[in-house]
Amino acid sequence: MSTKDGYKLFQANVLKLEEIATGVFVLSYKKLHEFIAGQVVAITTDLNDESRLYSIASGVREEEVRILFNVVPEGKLTTQMSQLVEGDQIFISKPFGKFTGTKEPAYWIAAGTGIAPFASMFYSGLASNKVLIHGGRTLSAFYFRNVFEVYFDDNYIPCCSQQSGQGVFKGRLTEYLKSLNELPPEHKYYLCGSAEMVVETRDILIQKGIPFKQIIAEIYF
Ligand SMILES: Cc1cc2nc3c(=O)[nH]c(=O)nc-3n(C[C@H](O)[C@H](O)[C@H](O)COP(=O)(O)OP(=O)(O)OC[C@H]3O[C@@H](n4cnc5c(N)ncnc54)[C@H](O)[C@@H]3O)c2cc1C
Repeated sequence: MSTKDGYKLFQANVLKLEEIATGVFVLSYKKLHEFIAGQVVAITTDLNDESRLYSIASGVREEEVRILFNVVPEGKLTTQMSQLVEGDQIFISKPFGKFTGTKEPAYWIAAGTGIAPFASMFYSGLASNKVLIHGGRTLSAFYFRNVFEVYFDDNYIPCCSQQSGQGVFKGRLTEYLKSLNELPPEHKYYLCGSAEMVVETRDILIQKGIPFKQIIAEIYF
């Protein structure tokens, strides 16, 4: 079956929908296709509607696929997805995309639900030699924090723009990056979030001497 936007879709059934913070959910379904950590799928709940893209947030060897999403005010699909229950039907494309993780040393830089592809890379065994920087407005926005803190220790840097908290940089992730004296130019820099965040972060990295070719970005729009 295909959608209006041309993706070939496959039927899946919801295994679980968990609200992990207010308006932020993890949706899971049984894995249908192999993927590379960092890839996305197109999802819809209704074959007559256009689908939307979501990063896979689970590991490549897991039996279930997990998607992390936030409900967008008046958002068509996220409102529908937030009301799904176990067993409900959803339609999923094959995974695709080039924002894929490797074993090379890298900085993983995410804003909001942009943490999802890095969660997939983490659960796929790619987290050694990585620094994970996550920006969020409130302290509840650091999804999977308990897991990341244990693994990354000082190489996990939550940056909170509107609240203060223990072990959290007070300010936006861009301010955190600006505060650093130097960044390794030979590392890769993976950026995932809104267009605004990606452009601003990319500019800071370039100002700090990171070659453009070392910066890889995924924009959520
Ligand atoms: C490559 C890629 C990967 C993505 N991965 C994820 C992911 O893992 N998790 C995730 O939650 N989203 C992800 N997105 C965004 C997702 O595809 C949808 O755009 C989003 O969930 C909104 O869908 P909707 O149908 O609820 O809103 P729509 O009905 O499409 O939008 C309603 C209105 O809200 C605006 N809007 C859309 N998104 C936002 C937003 N985030 N904040 C504020 N306003 C918004 C739209 O411009 C529109 O005016 C990704 C996007 C891309 C391109």
